[in-house]
Parts: sequence; structure tokens; C-alpha cells
Amino acid sequence: MIHALVAGGGIGGLATALALASAGHQVTVLERQDAFTEIGAGIQLAPNGFAALDRLGVGRAVRERAVLVEELRLMDAVTGERLTAVPVGDRYRRRFGNPYAVVHRSDLLTPLVEACRAADRIRLLAGAEVAEHAQGPARVTVTTADGRTHHGDLLVGADGIRSAVRAQLLGDGPPRPTGHTIYRTLVPIAEVPPQLRSEAVTLWAGPGYHVVHYVVAGGASFNLAAIVDDGATEAVSGQPTARATVLDRFPRLAATPRALLELGEQWRRWVLCDRDPVDEWSRGRVTLLGDAAHPMLQYAAQGACQALEDAVALGALLAPATPENLPARLADYDAARRTRTARIQRLARWIGTDLYHPSGPAAAARNALLRPLTEDALHDHLAWVHTPQP
Ligand SMILES: Cc1cc2nc3c(=O)[nH]c(=O)nc-3n(C[C@H](O)[C@H](O)[C@H](O)COP(=O)(O)OP(=O)(O)OC[C@H]3O[C@@H](n4cnc5c(N)ncnc54)[C@H](O)[C@@H]3O)c2cc1C
Repeated sequence: MIHALVAGGGIGGLATALALASAGHQVTVLERQDAFTEIGAGIQLAPNGFAALDRLGVGRAVRERAVLVEELRLMDAVTGERLTAVPVGDRYRRRFGNPYAVVHRSDLLTPLVEACRAADRIRLLAGAEVAEHAQGPARVTVTTADGRTHHGDLLVGADGIRSAVRAQLLGDGPPRPTGHTIYRTLVPIAEVPPQLRSEAVTLWAGPGYHVVHYVVAGGASFNLAAIVDDGATEAVSGQPTARATVLDRFPRLAATPRALLELGEQWRRWVLCDRDPVDEWSRGRVTLLGDAAHPMLQYAAQGACQALEDAVALGALLAPATPENLPARLADYDAARRTRTARIQRLARWIGTDLYHPSGPAAAARNALLRPLTEDALHDHLAWVHTPQP
């Protein structure tokens, strides 16, 4: 048995705790915030994410809170024309073995927290901000911002896109602002016209911007996000933003997306960041996971799904681990996950530029490519991402 320290009690960190505990290990999760909670809005979960949740023992609990999606719709934000739609109903579910669904973030986090609390081998520590770590041949020591120390056989940095563990381990500076600003809000469903409350994830693509929406929280809320490619260079996270500012940023919208945007009252703003893939993210007894390892734009809706896959892979590879062979096992984990996550990081950027934001002839070329695609062809394109990993 080994004792793992996990920095960060978000989706990736809690999933890691469950995976390592079920592999027979002891885990301490150190979370910076005073509670294990997720603020914010909705999240899309593809079948590969659900497969990972099943392996962690919480798939059923998340499915019970999820809203199943029937279609992923791509619309023209300016003309209102429907460009394509990926059916993700029965045929898709049979092919990929799981649904495509949307959840409120807390509906994903709560089952993970509850499962961790029920596990004897997991200790959850809130108000524990990892400041630095030191590793020797036999153990890792973590010091938190309040000066406490924790010892373990390994440290998993699951502390998100601005990971303190990564900063020390790889020293590759802050993540890259991508020049895209996202405005997000939740609208009570009663305020949404009935014809817009569909079981679809709908995305309105315009030149240099897009609007996306879907229903979450068992149908109680409408998740609305509007993204603009405005060249923003400074990282911003969750800044409250006036409704009028949001409406001003998206002047060229067809009537329906415009009406939807007008429903939002409490908006917040983020400047989206990511990183280039790296060749390795494990060194000795320390490794990274989720956004700390491979932060990606949300356009492929895979960041959380990849964090869950990481956790399952790490648990499987560390099942036979001993304190002595840990560095070799962590290198195996890194090698097992690197190529897939790097491809998805690049895919997410490509989706932003070539699928969601093109204008003029590039947009016409996109439309011409998408129009003839059949249901099976659309599923074939998604298969390498959405297929559950062994
Ligand atoms: C707008 C947007 C939409 C998205 N939509 C989707 C989607 O539809 N589907 C999808 O799969 N993914 C989506 N993602 C991506 C997804 O949210 C992330 O990939 C996922 O949350 C990563 O989980 P994580 O645990 O690695 O990091 P985080 O969720 O960031 O969790 C990190 C945790 O570590 C804690 N922490 C930070 N620093 C420290 C420290 N020094 N010490 C201790 N604790 C620390 C934080 O408080 C937090 O709890 C989206 C992302 C964004 C921004």
C-alpha cells in the first residue's frame, strides 16, 4: 500500500482519490477552498466520461442527476440557419455504450465528494492550499500555505490550470490566454420560452464568436454561454459583468440567440487559457492530472472527461505499485495518457478557429463540408474522442 497526496479536490482530484483508494492505497486530498464545492455552470459529459465515472463507482449517481441530450446542434448565429446536428439518441448510445448528457457542475462533484467521504482510505482536507513540495528518494513532503506539512509516497498535482505543483515541477510559467472571452450565466427555466427548452446542446456559430446553451439541474436551469474572440491578453476568472456589456459584445445575432442572450441577468466573465502539450508531466514521485497536466479549451467539451480518464488510468497503473517502483509507474501513466490528451488539446483549438468561429469563405467551406455528413459519418468523426477507453 502507498500513501498518496493529492493537491486539489476538484473533479480530477476527487476522481483520483477514488481510483487510488479502490486500488488499495491510502489518499489525502488537500483542497485550497474551505469546502469541496464547484461554483459555476453546466458541463457536458460524453460517453467516455460516463465510462470513467462507472469505473469510479459513481456513474449511476451522476446519471440520475444528468439531463440526457438527444442532439448536438450547430446553427448559424447570423442567419439562424441550421448547419448540422449530431443525433446522440439511442443509436449513438448503443454505439458508445453510454449517453451524452449535461449536468450542473455540482451534480458531478457531489457524487464524487460523497463517495470519497464514504471511503475509509480517503481523507479530505479543506482549507489546505499546497504551496510547495520537496521529494527525496523515499517520500514527498508538501507544505501548505499555512505552514503545515504532509508526507506521502507520491504527490498528484490535480490543482487545476494554475497548478502550484506544475509551477514547481515543470516551471513552464502561467497558462496562455487564448484571446477568447467567455460570458456565462444560468437562467431559471421558467423564464425561458418553452420552444427553446429542448433536449439539445445548441451552438450558434458566428464570425469570431459563438453562443451555446442547454438545460441543466434536472431541467431547472438554462445554461447560457457566449464566447467572443476579442484578443484578450489578461487572464480573468469569474468577474461579474453587466448585462448591457454582454449584449453589446454580440451585436450580430439572429433573433433567437439574441432573445436568449437577453434572458441572462447575472453574468460572469472569464478569459480562456490553455497550454501547448508537453512531453512529460511526471518526475520522480510527483505527477500531474487533469487541467494541471493538459489544460484545454472547452470547445471539445472534454476537459473534465479527460481528467476522469486520467484518474482511472492512474488507478489501474498504480494498482500493483509499491513505494519503490512508483517513479516507473508514474512514467507509465504519463506515457499512457500523453498522446490522447495532446490530440484533444489540439482538437479543441481547431474547433474554436475552424468550426465555431470562421467567417466568409472559410465559413462557407465549413458549411459545405458539414452539410452532406450522415449520422454515421458524424459519429465516426467523434468516435476517437467519445469511445470509452479500455
Ligand atoms: C467555460 C468552461 C466550460 C467547460 N465545459 C466542459 C464540458 O462541457 N465538458 C468537460 O468535460 N469539460 C469542460 N470544461 C473543462 C473542465 O471544467 C475542466 O477540465 C475540469 O474542471 C478539470 O478538472 P481539474 O480537477 O483538473 O481542475 P479544477 O476543476 O480546476 O480543480 C482544481 C481544484 O484544485 C484546487 N486548487 C487549486 N490550487 C490549489 C492549491 N495550490 N492547493 C490545493 N488546491 C488547489 C481548486 O480549488 C479546485 O478545487 C470546461 C471548462 C470551462 C472553463
